[in-house]
Amino acid sequence: MTRRIPLSVPLLAGNEQRYLTECVSTNFVSSVGPFVTRFERGFASAIGAADAVACSSGTAAIHLALVTSGAAPGRDVLVSDLTFVAAANPVRYCGADVTLVDSEPRTWNLDPALVVEELRRRDSSGEAQPAAIVAVHLLGHPADLGPILSVATELGVPVVEDAAEALGASWSTGDLAGKAVGTAGSVGCFSFNGNKVLTTGGGGMLVARVGAVATRARHLSTQARIPGPEYFHDDIGYNYRLTNVAAAIGLAQLEQLEGFLDRKRKIADTYDRAFEAIDAIERPPDLSWGRRSSWLYTVLLPDRSARERLRTGLAEDGIETRPIWQPLHRQAAYASCRRIGGGVAEQIADRALSLPSSPSLAGHEQEAVVSAVLTRLRSGDLG
Ligand SMILES: *Cc1c(COP(=O)(O)O)cnc(C)c1O
Repeated sequence: MTRRIPLSVPLLAGNEQRYLTECVSTNFVSSVGPFVTRFERGFASAIGAADAVACSSGTAAIHLALVTSGAAPGRDVLVSDLTFVAAANPVRYCGADVTLVDSEPRTWNLDPALVVEELRRRDSSGEAQPAAIVAVHLLGHPADLGPILSVATELGVPVVEDAAEALGASWSTGDLAGKAVGTAGSVGCFSFNGNKVLTTGGGGMLVARVGAVATRARHLSTQARIPGPEYFHDDIGYNYRLTNVAAAIGLAQLEQLEGFLDRKRKIADTYDRAFEAIDAIERPPDLSWGRRSSWLYTVLLPDRSARERLRTGLAEDGIETRPIWQPLHRQAAYASCRRIGGGVAEQIADRALSLPSSPSLAGHEQEAVVSAVLTRLRSGDLG
């Protein structure tokens, strides 16, 4: 193979250049400027939210979500064990403790039975409830939030959705039918890092079910400064606002969102069909009650060593693939956290491999990936 096939790269094929030129020619490059508001409004309407707050990163959005939810020293926050570390770090920025919850095998997300059991147990024993629950929609598959939300709402626990990988995913049945991922919980957070569904170079977005929460998050993201000529601040704020330059790229990307999602879903469908009859490959979750964003197409191999053999073999073929994140309990900063459940997240993390999923992936490139996977599996006695 002559050309390397990357795992996930952005496609800047719309108005990015034009809007950037507009930023430069109008001298609006910082966080004051018309693209920030246009991007926020466009984003809110794309996912059916009333308001959206543009942030400097997805991590910043999660931090603001937790601050507005009341995460603080002496409290804990339930977080999916299997996720990128940025879902948990903001809990610690707030001085709160992380309690890790294992995944369910069906969706790889937070196990709703474990969460419900934990909240009920605390309720009956009189133990303090968590300040919040951070529910991650891993790799773009919607978490089974229905049962979690109904108990969390009853017991007054805010649910923060980490939808960093799941822009465009939605639920299609039950109480959440028709809702976009990120709009079901108290607060939803998105990321526009380089390889996410949309990119702004780096950036994030926060949406909230209650308007006042979004307003407070926006205020905190701009150093909690009170409008006016003098510098008065009514809280401890942050410098978390997105710049006009980044928002200009974001708006141009947003205009192409449907096309990106369509392409990602077709890529996932093609992989699904190609691997359907291959015993050594377990395909990613695709439950009928939700629609996935298919951010990164990720398969499970029989075990860690099979996964590593395939990964290194494909690298020799010029194909970039990647294991998913190690569970948080295997990370130095989270190794001593309390854990609820266990065993599922480790299994998935040890066996998972993400395959090239860029919206710009050409048909012949995907065919090359599929055939290299099948060849490597056969020669490794895995197929
Ligand atoms: C990317 C990501 C984040 C963090 O977003 P940044 O914009 O990189 O700060 C948080 N959570 C998950 C699950 C992610 O994949």
